[in-house]
Amino acid sequence: MTGLEIYKLLPKTNCKKCGLPTCLAFAMALAAKKASLEKCPDVSDESRRALEASAEPPIKTVEIKDDAGVIKLGGETVLFRHEKTFWNACGLAVCVSDASSVADGEAAIAAASALKFERVGEQVRTEFIFVEQTKTDPGDFKILASAAFKSGMLVILSSPSADVIAPVASAHPDRKFIVASPSADGFKRHLDFAAASGLPLAVGCRSLDECAAVSEAVSLAKFGNLIFVLKFQSPAETLDVLVQLRRLSLKKNNRALGRPVIAMTSAAAVVGEGEGARAYDVISEAAEAAQYIEKYASIVAVKTSDAGAHLALVSLRQNIYTDPQKPVSVEAKLYKIGAVTPDSPLLVTTNFSLTYYSVVPEIESSRVPCHLLVVDTEGMSVLTAWSAEKFSPEIIAEAMKKSGALEAVSHKKVVVPGYVAVISGKLSDLTGFTAVVGPKEAGGLPRFLKEFRN
Ligand code: SF4
Repeated sequence: MTGLEIYKLLPKTNCKKCGLPTCLAFAMALAAKKASLEKCPDVSDESRRALEASAEPPIKTVEIKDDAGVIKLGGETVLFRHEKTFWNACGLAVCVSDASSVADGEAAIAAASALKFERVGEQVRTEFIFVEQTKTDPGDFKILASAAFKSGMLVILSSPSADVIAPVASAHPDRKFIVASPSADGFKRHLDFAAASGLPLAVGCRSLDECAAVSEAVSLAKFGNLIFVLKFQSPAETLDVLVQLRRLSLKKNNRALGRPVIAMTSAAAVVGEGEGARAYDVISEAAEAAQYIEKYASIVAVKTSDAGAHLALVSLRQNIYTDPQKPVSVEAKLYKIGAVTPDSPLLVTTNFSLTYYSVVPEIESSRVPCHLLVVDTEGMSVLTAWSAEKFSPEIIAEAMKKSGALEAVSHKKVVVPGYVAVISGKLSDLTGFTAVVGPKEAGGLPRFLKEFRN
């Protein structure tokens, strides 16, 4: 709402109890999110409800608890991350189904639970197991659901019958999970069970109209934790519905469609048509999943548990769900890489994460222990920081002094990145150290260090 729209809902008495001189000033402060509604004691209940509803995010947030904390789904406020940022990182799920053998399902669950990686200093992983019942006999589904719970991953249980899910859940009373109905036909029992158990509910929807109808039904039941599930034969269709859901909820203020979404990769065994058609494979599936991470799934469910595919997907997710206005950075300080001595070379670089994590492995692979001084450049890479005057000789000299680098080495040489050779003269003057120009790229460090002598 704009300030003027908010003003129309205020008492307009200018009583100043809110701490501001006029109701209009308070309305403007509310619109700019610099004040909270509680500060006005005289606002009517009707106006309060209208103002609180308008302040809710256009896409609801659904939370699910995990041993490692709380995972939030949805809650996004923009179409493009450069407008602000994307807030709640898309989850990744591995699908297992009773359509395959129990042994295959259990192997996939074991493989999925090992999908943990370290990237640019962060621990990243695939979080969910999506267990689907496709056979009439729920025996195998129950075995796989139990294995999923025991894996310690977050679990989504999808069965046409809530009566199948309930006993599996009661055998694991401490585990929170998502209750899923594969279709909007007969999801009411799932809704009752999810509401009674305090669990999120996911419902398979085949169209935007069906999403809207399901959303209205759960709203009437005063249930908030709804997630749509999209599973189409065509990736283009899934992508189209994902984009429309996001656009309609953000741009047309359609609150019914503003829900988190699970996008399942296509079930197609053949990709493409005619001569270009090919068998479905891991790379095709990863490419399809990548599109859903970018636009606009809250969880992407894939069939593969291939570690290479998942590393690519979690890396993409990590890049999409960072604030584009805040470069990812590491702590600025003096690092010891290997068993350093006072004779070890002293290198200097910036605190941009990707720079640091490019430089360190190259030093390690050279087997030459080094002191690495990481300078606070507000997360900028070498050339960007230099052109923004954040990696100047003065700043590096100051960092050398404050970090203890001057005392850490017995020699008088410091290696600067080749891209900023221009700073070497002034840095030498300021520190009394000879600034040696190193390689431009981190990949040149092993050879450089093997030949370098202090
Ligand atoms: S407390 Fe409420 S009524 Fe009084 S000035 Fe502030 S906004 Fe207006």
